[in-house]
This record gives sequence, structure tokens and C-alpha cells, in this order.
Amino acid sequence: MTAALANLNLILETITDGILVVDRLGFVLYTNQSAERIFDQDALLGTKLAIPVSPGETPQEINLVRRSGLGWAELRSAPIEWDDQRAYVIGVRDITERKLSDDYLLQAAAVFESTREGVLMTDAHKRIIRINRAFTDITSYTEAEAIGQLPSMLRSGRHDAKFYAEMWASILETGHWQGEIWNRRKNGEVYPELLSISAVVDKSGEVTNYVGVFADISQLKATESQLDFLAHHDPLTHLPNRLLLLSRVEHAVEIALRDGKMLALLMIDLDRFKDVNDSFGHLAGDELLQQVAKQLSSRLRGIDTLSRMGGDEFTVLLGNVVQPQDAARVANDIITMLGEPRLLSNGQEVRISASVGISLFPDHGMTPLELLQQADTALYQAKADGRGRFTFFSEALTRSARARMDLEVRLRRAIEKGELRAFYQPQVDVDTGRIIGAEALIRWQDPDEGLIPPLRFISVAEETGLITAIGNWILKETCVQGKRWIEAGLPPLTLAVNVSPHQFLRSNIEEIVAETLAETGFPANRLELELTESALMKREDEAIQILNRLHALGVRLAIDDFGTGYSSLAYLKLFPLDVLKIDKSFIDDIPHHRDDMEIAATIVAMAHTLHLKVLAEGVETKAQLDFLQAQGCDLYQGYLTSPPVPADQFEKLLRAQGGG
Ligand code: C2E
Ligand code: MG
Ligand code: MG
Repeated sequence: MTAALANLNLILETITDGILVVDRLGFVLYTNQSAERIFDQDALLGTKLAIPVSPGETPQEINLVRRSGLGWAELRSAPIEWDDQRAYVIGVRDITERKLSDDYLLQAAAVFESTREGVLMTDAHKRIIRINRAFTDITSYTEAEAIGQLPSMLRSGRHDAKFYAEMWASILETGHWQGEIWNRRKNGEVYPELLSISAVVDKSGEVTNYVGVFADISQLKATESQLDFLAHHDPLTHLPNRLLLLSRVEHAVEIALRDGKMLALLMIDLDRFKDVNDSFGHLAGDELLQQVAKQLSSRLRGIDTLSRMGGDEFTVLLGNVVQPQDAARVANDIITMLGEPRLLSNGQEVRISASVGISLFPDHGMTPLELLQQADTALYQAKADGRGRFTFFSEALTRSARARMDLEVRLRRAIEKGELRAFYQPQVDVDTGRIIGAEALIRWQDPDEGLIPPLRFISVAEETGLITAIGNWILKETCVQGKRWIEAGLPPLTLAVNVSPHQFLRSNIEEIVAETLAETGFPANRLELELTESALMKREDEAIQILNRLHALGVRLAIDDFGTGYSSLAYLKLFPLDVLKIDKSFIDDIPHHRDDMEIAATIVAMAHTLHLKVLAEGVETKAQLDFLQAQGCDLYQGYLTSPPVPADQFEKLLRAQGGG
């Protein structure tokens, strides 16, 4: 071999393209190493290759079937003289890699366009350079509108700057971010999407592009919350179900425990629901249940949870219960409400009744399940007792609550039937011993029980608001009576009427007083209103205003039961008061109890510095009266002179003392 030939050989062995020489039949006459590598064969020489022998000038692509897998090669050939015979030299270039990546891109492009996920690609400066069809489908932004913009064009405003900062920090650090994000469509609609962002980096590690792929998951979210709703609600009434109730109770228990509050769980069962179902069919039954659900929710406050346990059982969780009676009242309202006749859409009138079992937190149970259990037990008892009633888990509570309920019904009837009476207790001038007025005190003349004292019913009346009707009645009655006494020529009297806190704060008391005075013709300066400290302290600013307006009418104002409540004399300066009534409890132990005597003496002295007249309540003995007189007390009332008596008897007392 000449040196030139040896060099040529070396060149042929070094180049990465394959070089072959084949004869006219395709037998290999020469091969370099690269050709053997491309065809993946060790000994090509002398073998016949399945390739076109004279592919021509223009490159031709062929498939390579190799042990290591499929490949592609590009061939170019030229005729050549080889050992005196006609042959072909063929250049072989392995184009497998390029082919693969070309196809990949084609496929990728197809995927890019056809995928249902929105895709956007940006340059390194985050300017959008490409979007796919789904991007437009989801966001409604066309290519023309999106290209060149920043992805922030989609921002919903629901995420703060910190959210985006963390997102980009993650992309910078890991090259990737994925999460749920709220974006905004072109029409302004905000929607949730599942977004994944990747940074594309070149060989040197520089970011060249960012690619974002996102799926609109608003549909998914909707079904998710729908599923969640279904799991926690009753499909018929859409009320919370047992599962949700339990979690609400648990939450309420936590709060009640923290705030030291009371809760009540009412379990309601419809009596005779089964009859409706059986006689009018399930559709009617369903309608009835829906009606009941509606009625119940209209009765409750926002903080109460009404739920349906299934069948004809409902529960009510009452928050903010101050006393057992509060729960009893709601139960009673529910029973009354559900007991009213109702019309179904099939024109059928039906009447059902309801039984209610009540358990209280913390008295009857500390856990949701316990409370539910006890309410259920109580419900069972209510049904056993004859249905259409409520029962507490504890028998004593049930008894007292039912008695109060009963009292309420009777009292209401008593007011309507005119069974209330006004009694008058003389108020006496300590120095002269003369009756200068009277306190009007309510009595209830019950046909069966006889005369019922106010302590039996005033608190129920206060709770139910019936006190307003009672208070208005006795005010009117007293003024009418007072006017009559004036007309009868009796000496001028001051008549005192008690005003309850409810009446004072929740009825427009000054209007009622003004009207009553006008209607009856009783002079304002002869009327005295007795208020308790609790009424004044509850809403102090409002109280001052009401008192000022009352005072402007000309009526006198007295503070009743002084010493049993807040008892701040300095505080009383804020109110335009005329009389201070020392509570009977300070008078009782005179002259045996030094402390009480000192307190009474102090109250008298201090009240005088505030220019208030002082009246001692419940004076029963001469010793008490003597002591009070020594202290300079102005007035008193008590059994020493007379208990409260009907008007005609009071009149006799007046006439008996004679004079004018
Ligand atoms: P009060 O306004 O402090 O009335 C004084 C109470 O003490 C009256 O009881 C009276 O009978 C009683 N009392 C008077 N002197 C003596 C005595 O020497 N010894 C004893 N042991 N008791 C005496 P009553 O009439 O039973 O009224 C009780 C409370 O009921 C009243 O206390 C008042 O808070 C309320 N009340 C009575 N009538 C009305 C009313 O028309 N409206 C309102 N809102 N409350 C009323
Ligand atoms: Mg009084
Ligand atoms: Mg009193």
C-alpha cells in the first residue's frame, strides 16, 4: 500500500459516516468501521446487504433493521471501479436520532393541539409565545390576544402577591410548580384550574422557556362540593343530616365549654306521620316532610341547627340557651306550630302532632353522641306520656318546665277573661302616720285556685312578654281608680305602679303612659312608676333617655327593691329619680341586726343628699318604724299599716283616717 492509500484508509476509518463498496449484486467489497456500527454487524465484508445498490445522487432514506432496534439511514452512492469491476461506493449516514426527534415533535405538536389541557409557552421573559386551542377554549383568549402578553393576564385577584412569589420561587429552585389556582376568563368569570409550570433550560442551564399546562377543574370542583353536600345533607329536605349534625354539635360543645354556655338538643318526632304516608301515599308523605322542614327552619334563629335524622325525625340544636325553660319554649312552639292543620297539594287536609325530647349540655351529656342518646330517651318518654308534648331527659326539669308552660297558657287566658285584680297597699308618711298614697300590686283571681300572688306568675309573664299586657292593664286600672277617688273627693294620693324590665326596655313605655294618662284624666304628677335597678343597668344610655322622657311627662319615678341589685347610689345620680324604696330585706332584721340597721341608716342619709325621698318597704313592727323615724326616713309601707287590699278596702282605710 502506498502512503497515500494508507492515509486514505485511515481517513475512511475515522469518519463517522459509513462508507461501503458493493458490487452490482450488492455484495460488500469494502466497509469502514462506521458502516459496520451503523448496520450493527461485525463482519459486513462479503455479505449481501438488503439496500438499493444504486440509490443515485440524491440521498435516499432506508429503514435499518438491526439487533439493537430500528433505525434510519440516509444513503448516497456513486459508481466506482473496484478491482477492475464495476461497483458502487455508498455513503451511509445514521439519521435515526434526527428522525426520532422529528417524529416526536410532530407527535408532540399533534398532542399540543388536540389535548384538552390548556398549554401556554413563554419565552425567558415570560412573554407568551405559543398557546394551544384548549387555551382558547378555556380562557376565551385567542392567539392574537394572548401572544406577547404575560400570563398574569389571567390573574383572578384571588391570590395574594405571596402566593405568586412562592410559586416562582419553586420554579426557580426546582424548575417546576404544580397546584390549584384561580384564574379569570376573558368574560371575567373566575374558575379553578390545576396548573403545572415547568422551566425549560438549555445545555448551559439557562432558562429559555416556561411551559404551563392547565386543566379547568371548575366542573370537578362543582361535583366535589355537590358530593360533599350530598354526604352531609338529606336529599329530600336539603337539611343537614345526622353526620353534619354531629359535627355541628361537636363544634357547639367546644364553644359552649369555652364560654360556659348551655346547649339544648331537641329531638322531634312526628306523631301519626305513618298514617299520612299509608293513607295518602309516599309523595304526600314527602311533601309533608318538606313542609315541616320549612316551618321548623322559619321558627329557628341563625345559630340553631335544624337537621333531619331520617324518617320523620328531626333535631334542633339550640345554641345560647340561658335556662332550660328557653328550650322548653322552643319545643312548645314547635309542637303548637306542627300541630296546626295543613293542606297538601293533593287538596287533602292533614293534621299531625309532634313529640319532642330534650337533652341539655352540660347537664345531660358532654359529647354529641351522649346528647343525642339522651334526647332520644327523652323523646321516647314524651311519646310514652301521650305524644304531642316535650320531655326533658331529667324528670324534674320536665315537670317544672311543663308547669310553667301550663301557667303561661292559663295566664294568657286569665288576661283575656279579666281575671286580673289590682290591690293597693297604703304608703304612709313616717312622721304624721297618714296614708299619702298606695302601691298597686297585681293579683290573679283564678276561679279554681283562688287568689294567686304575683311571685307565682310575674317571672313567666316576664319571660313570655305577657308582662307588657299585664303592666298595661294595671297601669290603666290604677289610673282609672285614682281618677275615681279624686272625683269622690278623697284627699290627693300618689299611686305607684310597678314597671318590669321587659316593659321598660321593650315596649314604648312613655307612649303608653302618656296615652293612659290622657285617656283616664289622672294627673301625671300623681302617678309614680317603680323601676328596678336591673332594668336601668341593662342598657344604661337608653334607660336614661326613657326616664328623661317619662319625667318630662310629669310622672314621678321610684327605684324599687333598692339594695338587692347593683345598688350604687352614685350611679343613681345619673337618673332623674324621685323616690328610693329600701328593700324589705334590710328592714326585716331591725332592730336585731346591727349591720342591716347601719345599711338602712346609710341609705337614708345618702339618698337625702341626692334629694331623693326614702320609702321603707315591708315595715311590720313598731320598733322598725321607730328606728326608721329616728333615721329621718320619709315614707313606709308594710303590714304594720295594711297588706295590699282591694280598692274598696283601701278606700275604707282612707276614709277611716279622716281629715283632708
Ligand atoms: P314589690 O314591688 O317590691 O312589692 C312589694 C311586695 O312586698 C308586695 O308583694 C307586698 O305585698 C309585699 N309586702 C309589703 N309589705 C309587706 C310586709 O310588711 N311584709 C311582707 N312579708 N310583705 C310585704 P306582692 O304583692 O306579692 O308583690 C311581689 C312582687 O311582685 C312585687 O314586689 C313586684 O316586684 C311584683 N309585682 C307585683 N305587682 C306587679 C305589677 O303590677 N307589675 C310588675 N311588673 N310587678 C309586680
Ligand atoms: Mg314595687
Ligand atoms: Mg319592692
